[in-house]
Amino acid sequence: MEQAPMLFIPGPTYVPEEIARAQARPMIGHRSREFTALFERILPRLQAIFRTRGRVFFIAASGTGLWEAAVRNLVRRKVLCLINGAFGERWYQVALANGKEAVPVSVEWGKGIRPEQVVAALEEHRDVEAITLVHNETSTGVMNPLREIAGAVHQTFPGVLILVDAVSSLGGAPLETDAWGLDFVLTSSQKCLALPPGLAFCAVSERALEKAKEVPHRGYYFDLLTLARYADRGETPATPAISLLYAADLQLARILEEGLEARWERHRRMAERLQAWAMERFGLFAEDGYRSWTLTCVANTRGIDVGALNEFLRSRGKVISSGYGPLKGKTFRIAHMGEIQPHHLEELLADIEEWLDAQP
Ligand code: PLP
Repeated sequence: MEQAPMLFIPGPTYVPEEIARAQARPMIGHRSREFTALFERILPRLQAIFRTRGRVFFIAASGTGLWEAAVRNLVRRKVLCLINGAFGERWYQVALANGKEAVPVSVEWGKGIRPEQVVAALEEHRDVEAITLVHNETSTGVMNPLREIAGAVHQTFPGVLILVDAVSSLGGAPLETDAWGLDFVLTSSQKCLALPPGLAFCAVSERALEKAKEVPHRGYYFDLLTLARYADRGETPATPAISLLYAADLQLARILEEGLEARWERHRRMAERLQAWAMERFGLFAEDGYRSWTLTCVANTRGIDVGALNEFLRSRGKVISSGYGPLKGKTFRIAHMGEIQPHHLEELLADIEEWLDAQP
């Protein structure tokens, strides 16, 4: 079999072999004692990673499914969607596709969303029930000031629910579900948690679950109240992705063994190293003070052929990511998520330097 390249792309991320192999364990029934034991091992680990004592759920889906769950369960009519990149934009489209009255608040790509901008938009739309916010915009390398935004919303509009996409941040950058008063936090398995794709996880506040009771047409598969009812007996409503849960069982324990704060710090150090390198050799797309801890979006100020660079990197068993959508050619992205270690990054940078030196 061809050797797969080391992934410096923002998901799926590198999965250690031991975790991948855990999926091959023999199958069990999902209405069995063995499954409930697995469920009960995974739940407290998830709570620790989401930093919550509240409800957490997992489901066989990618993060996109939980975008839909969030607006479908927690918005009766109107939601404010904060947008400063492709994923904020897509969550807004999901809200519209689910028949919600969604108000877009757009901020220039590459800039962070300021708490004042959110408060000003809420003042203009006082009947909004919730906001959607992407913590870490994977398309631009911007990490929004989630804690400050949540604080400002709680202070000025305490009734507004805070729905957060932490797809490319949870496990790689600080996020405190309970302490920051977040109502719904979602993530996918294939980013900073370094699991294969196919699972989505979320934390849900008590007041969000109460709100869901008043929202009609929550759908079926992603109905949070049904998920909660089954979770109370250590089960899921539909057949869960058991193989992936075997991997999660092991990987979530490994994450906590490393220590969540140590893991955040490892990501921060890698971001710092990469940002310093990018500033010296190119530039950075994201504005200062709002830069991601989990991926770096390099401004292609030298106009290099990113495709050619990636071909060279492939020959060295590595792959990075081109710019997202309209940023293709103008930027390229290097992800340092999950199980990527500082020495992996150093090896990558040495290869990029070699390629740059060989350019005319
Ligand atoms: N949100 C963010 C910030 C992402 O980066 C992505 C995917 O890259 C998604 C949502 C969509 O997640 P999924 O592909 O797991 O559905």
